[in-house]
Amino acid sequence: MELILLGTSAAYPTVKRASSGYLVRDGKTSILIDMGSGVIRNLMRWMDPLALDVIIISHLHQDHFVDVYPLYYYLAYHESGKFPINVYAPAEAREFILQIFPPGSGSKFDSTFSFHPLVDQDTFEIGDFGCQSIAVKHNMPTFGQRISQGGHVVSYSSDTTFSEALFDVADGSDVFICEATKKEDYKDVMHLTARQAGMVASKAGVKKLVLTHIWPDFDPDYQKRAAAEQYSGPIIIAEDNMQIDIG
Ligand SMILES: [Zn+2]
Repeated sequence: MELILLGTSAAYPTVKRASSGYLVRDGKTSILIDMGSGVIRNLMRWMDPLALDVIIISHLHQDHFVDVYPLYYYLAYHESGKFPINVYAPAEAREFILQIFPPGSGSKFDSTFSFHPLVDQDTFEIGDFGCQSIAVKHNMPTFGQRISQGGHVVSYSSDTTFSEALFDVADGSDVFICEATKKEDYKDVMHLTARQAGMVASKAGVKKLVLTHIWPDFDPDYQKRAAAEQYSGPIIIAEDNMQIDIG
């Protein structure tokens, strides 16, 4: 399987980075995790969005889902796809996302997307992939992800402050995509520092750490050094359209 980073910025996109988005695929099945602003443009560089099998939305902060709206219109104008696309998301996602559509749009929306609730520790299969959601600790219901195939695992922290659940999310991963959004001196921010990301990667025994959800004003080299104080494995600063092969 391969991982393609489609959006690596926090909060808002920049010239070089879309907001959150990660594509995991194996040549038969394509799973998109999160869909922040700019992700649909990057996705189109790699594949036709019509061929997506599943979208997983980790939580309902705008920088993780708003490109569902342009995707909806893309799908509406290309009706040859395999609809509805399954969307795994927090339980309230359908009603929340549907709010900005005109009244009466529900049936068309439901024929385009089929929503399934994410539940802590739940597992489900998509093609030859196994998927697991693990609740993490953020300002709203939020789920880290583990995508596995043939003994290989890609894991994703989503947005989270530190919690023991992160060790379960990251456990033994080939690649751990971890947010590193918080500066050391920030208080009351429900995010991780790069140092914490490194600590989790180290204790969870991951093989490669990808630091993402990069705050636009941060110095990525500083972030990398901070994570390296805790984790001795390879550390990658996420960049949009970076491709990582995994087993
Ligand atoms: Zn968030």
